[in-house]
Amino acid sequence: MNNPVADHLRRLIEIEGPVPVADYMAIALGHPGHGYYMRRDPLGAGGDFITAPEVSQMFGELVGLWIAAQWLTQGAPERFVLAEAGPGRGTLMADALRATARVPGFSKAGEVHFIETSPVLKAAQAVRVPYARWHDRLDNVPEGPLFLIANEFFDALPVRQFVRTERGWCERCVALDATGERFEPVLAPVAQGAADLLPPGLREAPAGSLAEISPASEAIARQIASRIAIHGGAALIIDYGHVRSGLGDTLQAVRAHAYADPFEEPGLADLTAHVDFEALGRAARAAGVAVHGPVEQGAFLVALGIEGRCVKLKAGASRMQCDRIDTELGRLTGTDQMGRLFKAMAITPLNAPVPDGF
Ligand code: SAH
Repeated sequence: MNNPVADHLRRLIEIEGPVPVADYMAIALGHPGHGYYMRRDPLGAGGDFITAPEVSQMFGELVGLWIAAQWLTQGAPERFVLAEAGPGRGTLMADALRATARVPGFSKAGEVHFIETSPVLKAAQAVRVPYARWHDRLDNVPEGPLFLIANEFFDALPVRQFVRTERGWCERCVALDATGERFEPVLAPVAQGAADLLPPGLREAPAGSLAEISPASEAIARQIASRIAIHGGAALIIDYGHVRSGLGDTLQAVRAHAYADPFEEPGLADLTAHVDFEALGRAARAAGVAVHGPVEQGAFLVALGIEGRCVKLKAGASRMQCDRIDTELGRLTGTDQMGRLFKAMAITPLNAPVPDGF
């Protein structure tokens, strides 16, 4: 089957040799014109995966009210940037704006900015939030108090992988197998001082251990944090991942709601890795902010009042609708569903009080 991303990667490997896993991931997801996110809307029942805002309107509503509470706590600045990184279909922001419409002054003060690279998803976002402004990266978002949401954004950013060998930590790369057609993971033959890049606790791991880092994620966390340190604001990062940096390969591919081989059909499957919240927190703190959490998504949403919101939505609803709302609540908060694997972490200025839910 015709796969322009695979063709591009094959040519690249033929010319340059094996490419680091991070480059493979970045090309598979972001290749201009053909990358996974560039060509399709991956969300929902007909796509490859479903996210919390697509499960229920309650998610975006509560996140919106959390942001509004942060804005009030910080003296309700008259103008602020209401940003979302990787807004998907724009559902979260649309629900957040509806829920906060009654917070006096909030919508008037907030200017919506989306950080998004996918033309297909930008179009979907424009249907739900027509007056948003779009940027490829945070650098281009105007300065000022920054209130930012990122749900399932960091898991899509590239990770570098290193394996501990007798030669030291060697980068995991992607090569072509003997047929020249299929992709396979290989190790770089030499260790290149990679140990310095790894969290100190992991550097002495036993031979065979695999460590992951996401320099791209850390750079963005640092950038968000430094804006908040300078201009005020708050960020809410929700994603699936680990509280502490650890060892192990978490790169995964999902296609049509099922796990797939990450090295098969690049560009046609979603590639993600667990978010290392400890690394994100460390990067943010270095910019001079307070980091709160991470806490489990289930506990976070319950603390924000999701159960009360459920009761409200069910009042006057049909039996079928009530069952649906209960199912959605279970999906977002259940410990065997999204409630435990997903975590919420907040960034605030150093002097701000601990935010709701933390
Ligand atoms: N937050 C949404 C979508 C999650 S999917 C939700 O919860 O439903 C990941 C989103 O991040 C998509 O919108 C994707 O296009 C975007 N994205 C992925 N990599 C990106 C990058 N490097 N820069 C900007 N956006 C990116």
